[in-house]
Amino acid sequence: MTTTLHLPEADADLTPLEEARAQLRDAIDFLGLSEGKYEMLAHARREMTVAVPLRRDNGDLELFIGHRVQHNFTRGPAKGGVRYDPNVDLDEVRALAMWMTWKCALLDVPYGGAKGGVRIDPRNYSQTELERVTRRYTSELIPILGPEKDIPAPDMGTDEQTMAWMMDTYSVAVGHTVPSVVTGKPISLGGSLGRRESTSRGVVHVALAALESRGLRPAHSTAAVQGFGKVGRGAARFLDEADVAVLAVSDMYGAVHNPAGLDIPALEAHVDVTGSVVDFSGAEPLDRDALLELDVDLLVPAAHEGVLTSDNANRVRAKVIVEGANGPTSSAADRIFAENDILVVPDILANAGGVIVSYFEWVQGNQSYWWTADEVEERLRTRMLGSWKDVTAYAREHDLSLRSAATIMAVERVALAHRQRGLYP
Ligand code: NAD
Repeated sequence: MTTTLHLPEADADLTPLEEARAQLRDAIDFLGLSEGKYEMLAHARREMTVAVPLRRDNGDLELFIGHRVQHNFTRGPAKGGVRYDPNVDLDEVRALAMWMTWKCALLDVPYGGAKGGVRIDPRNYSQTELERVTRRYTSELIPILGPEKDIPAPDMGTDEQTMAWMMDTYSVAVGHTVPSVVTGKPISLGGSLGRRESTSRGVVHVALAALESRGLRPAHSTAAVQGFGKVGRGAARFLDEADVAVLAVSDMYGAVHNPAGLDIPALEAHVDVTGSVVDFSGAEPLDRDALLELDVDLLVPAAHEGVLTSDNANRVRAKVIVEGANGPTSSAADRIFAENDILVVPDILANAGGVIVSYFEWVQGNQSYWWTADEVEERLRTRMLGSWKDVTAYAREHDLSLRSAATIMAVERVALAHRQRGLYP
């Protein structure tokens, strides 16, 4: 069994930013870096908070708060998603931006880390209203965006259409078309084949490797997937295609369970019609959060942060957890999983497929030369499995959890770039 580093002794669960900083602190201590370096990396390089007024379709006026946090851009332009969610707050965005820095460094893509968000529930607004919110939010951020400064991508509550609006708004402002200011845009505007499903594919590549590392053969394994959005839905589909029996899935409205395995294509067709997994005829209803405690080999949390905590960790029966979402596991839960010999594949490794293919999209756009879907997938697989091997080897060598190993490797790369560039002035 591996050990985790200096995780808090108390069972109290931390906020995402406290979690991110505790992970950084462990990495800094392990690497013998200075307190000053910790302070530099614990704080974002640049943050912007903007007011986003919206004239609703019915003439009413509403105001939303948006953020963009560029945690670090020492290794290249800042990179990270934009989230539309009613729970967005600045500290959460700060944590997500820091994790993006580690993710890009770990996967060795030449980017720093950023994250953005608007505190809005997109389900309550029309497409034309969301377009106006997106354009206003983007235009407020224009001074800090750009293909060499900061490159947004989709996250919770945003999609290819959001990226097309952001790209258009930026392009109009600078006077020429700049496709590479965003990734995850539609193929017709310079998006990459395979970007849409890249995060899910990456999750499944490492999930299969993780199952095998525990002596579990995919064809005899079972899984539960929390969240049925861009990441969770694809993860369920690719697990199914790899002959893993997906027994349960959930979304914000509820969960469905079939002990014999869900018919994923039929479930996807149901979701396309109804907008939710709930009431799928090929399964029994299940309490939404009970999904996390099912007796399965593999659990893929792919909804949002903070779902595996000291409250439920001792009831989790999965043998392997692969973090599709960012920050789903608290450090208190991590400690319990280590004690219970549950393998956790951390977010900065597990869900890095999206940023890898975002990087491929940026490279293809810069060269105006497009790869086939097979080329994209093969390069993604090679990068994901290469990082899986590197992280597991480092963890074994130093007797660390995969999360500690991945964070340390990433922090070391960022610290090296700081050292090589020197401190201005
Ligand atoms: P999304 O908005 O497309 O989907 C989110 C899904 O989670 C929806 O099905 C929603 O109904 C469900 N959900 C919300 N609350 C839930 C709850 N309490 N229980 C169960 N389901 C719930 O978002 P997404 O892009 O799939 O992102 C999901 C997670 O993956 C986030 O943590 C995000 O930061 C992370 N992530 C996304 C990408 C990407 O490329 N989209 C890349 C890396 C990481």
